[in-house]
Amino acid sequence: MKTLETKSMVLLRHHLKALRLPTVGAECEKVAQRCAADNVDHLTYLLQLTELELLDREKRAAERRTKAARFPTIKTLDTFDFTARPSVNKVLITELARGEFIDKRENVLFVGNPGTGKSHLATALAACACAKGYRVRFYRATELVTQLIEARDERTLLRLKAQLAKLDLLVLDEFGYVPASKIGAELLFDVISTAYERTSLIVTTNLPFESWTEILGSERLTGATLDRLTHRCRIIETKGGSYRLHQATKTRSAKANTDS
Ligand code: ADP
Ligand code: MG
Repeated sequence: MKTLETKSMVLLRHHLKALRLPTVGAECEKVAQRCAADNVDHLTYLLQLTELELLDREKRAAERRTKAARFPTIKTLDTFDFTARPSVNKVLITELARGEFIDKRENVLFVGNPGTGKSHLATALAACACAKGYRVRFYRATELVTQLIEARDERTLLRLKAQLAKLDLLVLDEFGYVPASKIGAELLFDVISTAYERTSLIVTTNLPFESWTEILGSERLTGATLDRLTHRCRIIETKGGSYRLHQATKTRSAKANTDS
């Protein structure tokens, strides 16, 4: 009996591997023991195992999507202090975290001074999108411009654009940190206009709209870019000063109070 059980187990593991059901393989014995003890029927046993496999599969897929998004740091909405940034509407951010704006191909633009939480919120929203099953890629705007120019020089631009076209959500962080070259600005505009009504964009910038010409060079290109970007767009202003600076000042004054 013992050898038969062992032989069945070896075969079962083989079949489950061939069928790509790793969680069923890992959990079947444990769940079988529990079901036997609870007098649970075979169909319920199967249901429990398939549920575990599905849950694990979703988790693994979300992890893969998060990795593919290439976030420079992991940020979550839980760690965002909304009371420190009253211009950011928590209800709106929570709504955006549900991802419906991505189904509607809408954009989100975060505008505000450095250190005011724009990248934090953009990353956290994009991470929520990964968990919900959307395909996401995070770029610093300059990094994307560099990649576009390199791809153009190496004649792989079509491939890069095909990769971008597969995304549900593209994050362009720090738009406007350095002026783009003429060709860089045109390539970036091309990405933004291709994404228009097909891929959602989250853009963060510390530049007011009137200064975008300095980055994109021409007024015509700036007008056309803003036109596409801001049509069906939530604009969220992170008003005020740097969070880190504020925290550092608070810590220092708390220390001064305890020292005195
Ligand atoms: P920005 O992109 O606007 O320059 P960041 O999002 O990079 O700013 O924020 C700078 C740092 O401060 C990050 O480590 C971020 O997590 C943190 N931070 C900013 N605002 C908040 C906030 N309201 N609550 C918690 N952490 C914050
Ligand atoms: Mg930033």
